[in-house]
Amino acid sequence: MTSCNLCHIVSRGLPLGRVYEDDLLVVLMDTSDGPAQMLVVPKLHEGSLEALGAAAQHHLYKISRRAGRSLHVAAGIAPDVRLQVLPADEGHAHLKVLAAAS
Ligand SMILES: [Zn+2]
Repeated sequence: MTSCNLCHIVSRGLPLGRVYEDDLLVVLMDTSDGPAQMLVVPKLHEGSLEALGAAAQHHLYKISRRAGRSLHVAAGIAPDVRLQVLPADEGHAHLKVLAAAS
């Protein structure tokens, strides 16, 4: 079994701010680079989002858009939201949801 920091977080090895979870992914509040961003992390350790398959990718983007809307409502700071597909640090692809400066 592959293990990395994100796998450790997904398996609840680290108590980070988990704001949503379902069978395929977890959404984490990330305060490392600023207050208004979230990480959308697939539970499967894959090096690319494409490797998850079309249905899982669709679900990932759908939940990311919802996370972005909740960031906007919670922070009340920006009408725009950006999604970044992050390089697979340690081989675990994921998305970062940012409230964009307007
Ligand atoms: Zn992993």
